[in-house]
Amino acid sequence: MYVPSNTEIIVSNLLEEKGITSIFKLHICDFMKAFNITLRLCDFGGVLLKNERRTVIILNKNDPEVIQYESFLHELSHHIREDLSYQLVEEWQHNNFECKTNHLMQYIAMPYFLYEDIICLNTVEKVARYFHVTKELARKRLEGIKNKLIDLRGGKIANLQRQKREMVLSNQLQRHQWQL
Ligand SMILES: [Zn+2]
Repeated sequence: MYVPSNTEIIVSNLLEEKGITSIFKLHICDFMKAFNITLRLCDFGGVLLKNERRTVIILNKNDPEVIQYESFLHELSHHIREDLSYQLVEEWQHNNFECKTNHLMQYIAMPYFLYEDIICLNTVEKVARYFHVTKELARKRLEGIKNKLIDLRGGKIANLQRQKREMVLSNQLQRHQWQL
């Protein structure tokens, strides 16, 4: 069994609310429509521009498709988290935003509502191909899920061992009582 984090559930629910409900919707065009974002392709990228009326994400037109996609997901994560622009915050705050954003984007790219697919795919290569992401991001997500599964299994084994020990102890106690 896999127990997701609160962040995973929140992101998954948000995506489903916005109509991102299957693997076929995990594309820049669908995210743009769902979150009302305009896309611009330029000679530079990785920029999120916001005002009261519009949200624009700028991607580098020279980047490979997969890098453009992850760059988009990164900026979308900032948008969802409502991070303040780096010009408005201290450097340590910006670094903190970056860290949290990089963590969040894996849950957009490979949402919790598809976690069974991730487990079935089972390898970094297959997860990367299925979700159109880099192996680096696929590995992060897959290992995150597997580590939690192992934890649970570890817990189960520990429980079984404890039950066994309790049985041995109660048998010993019974035997002891017989002898008395
Ligand atoms: Zn960023």
